[in-house]
Amino acid sequence: METVIYVPDGTDCNVPLYLHDPDKFRGNIACDICGEKSWFVKGFTTEKYNRAPCFAAHHANSCDNKITLIADDDGDPTSGDPANIHIDLDKQRKQTIAVPPPSTKTAKQSRWGTTRAYTNVGDYPENKSLRQILACLSRNPNYPEDDATVKMVADGGRIVLQGVLADYLIPQGGISDVPLGEARIFWGRINNINKYNGALWLNCGDYKTEPSILIEDEELEDDLMQDFRLKDLEELQGADFIVVGVAFKAQAGKPYIKFGFTKYLAFRKYRVDQVG
Ligand SMILES: [Zn+2]
Repeated sequence: METVIYVPDGTDCNVPLYLHDPDKFRGNIACDICGEKSWFVKGFTTEKYNRAPCFAAHHANSCDNKITLIADDDGDPTSGDPANIHIDLDKQRKQTIAVPPPSTKTAKQSRWGTTRAYTNVGDYPENKSLRQILACLSRNPNYPEDDATVKMVADGGRIVLQGVLADYLIPQGGISDVPLGEARIFWGRINNINKYNGALWLNCGDYKTEPSILIEDEELEDDLMQDFRLKDLEELQGADFIVVGVAFKAQAGKPYIKFGFTKYLAFRKYRVDQVG
């Protein structure tokens, strides 16, 4: 798109206007046909290719401005009991290929020989990554529709959270309603990125009122770039996110989320299939 609507007063915004005052427009622009939130996409030039700056959005299906956004794949299907979900944050695909330290545990041997544990195949939980949970939510915001339980572990078995999955899943619009400082699984869509006083803000929309993910630690930001193979943070604009973190509220009432490590986070990035 070359023109979008500046939501607060309904006026048109084009590329030169946006570039003149990005802080005013960031998070406050929408498609002029379907009204979906929009974001600015920088132009770039390579030897073979010249892309002009423009605006993008996840347009409504019927929108004439619609371009096709394709999510990257969701990983392997899993099997097991779908009402009993197991998430091991240390086994997510984006993890670097670090070699785990050798186990210090030795197999227990009783005087009567090796102890054996028998498992019933039907008792296996369904192993899922955060990323796969996010894919389910993207297809069906009411996922899971039954009383599926979740057990999420990290760091070799430490329980991060455990209970009814639906009680932990909080869409971006519900962040204001959850108890502050308690671990939840937040999900939503990043609209724009902003750096302010050295801190990185991944914003769902208007940074003054709508939720954000705050990354204050420079090392965490570096991990984010590396683990998700980002060349530019702006690649996260328009991406769906899921993050295990805790909610905070700024003085003005704006909710934001903090998290500890990149393994607590997953994205579904979209790419533009064809420009229309
Ligand atoms: Zn549209």
